Amino acid sequence: MEDKKTNNPVYSTTDSQKVNLKDDEWKKVLSPEVYYIARQKGTESPYTSKFEDFKEPGTYYCAACGNPLFKSDAKFESGCGWPSFYEPISKNAIIYTPDNTYGMSRTETQCGRCKAHLGHVFNDGPPPTGLRFCINGVVLDFEKAKEAEKHYNADQKAKKG
Ligand SMILES: [Zn+2]
Repeated sequence: MEDKKTNNPVYSTTDSQKVNLKDDEWKKVLSPEVYYIARQKGTESPYTSKFEDFKEPGTYYCAACGNPLFKSDAKFESGCGWPSFYEPISKNAIIYTPDNTYGMSRTETQCGRCKAHLGHVFNDGPPPTGLRFCINGVVLDFEKAKEAEKHYNADQKAKKG
């Protein structure tokens, strides 16, 4: 996962300054898959994301710019075929835009830092928010929670010892 970021100068998980690249600049720094979803509002095929039934504790970041988007605590199994969350990591993590394409009235979700297309949000999610953020796994980067990783490594050591 590291190699796709080496030529992406805007990628940062800590810098919250807005990113404003031109389309051809994005094309240079993103993988074709990420570019297609993030910049051309594409949609990955359902049930293809490695994050769809992924349950590790940690944080999900925008794959285009590194902006923190969701915590694994807010992830749930919606069965819709895409990684689903009931709330973003923070209020400004995501931008909401009305989307009336394909004859549907939906709300598009975009990265609050770089405006990458992420997916859509629906009103049929679980408590406490009742929202379902239906997100393309291609535009998510995942980092394991440090604490969880420590426990995991300790377990592995104990098993070996
Ligand atoms: Zn972003």
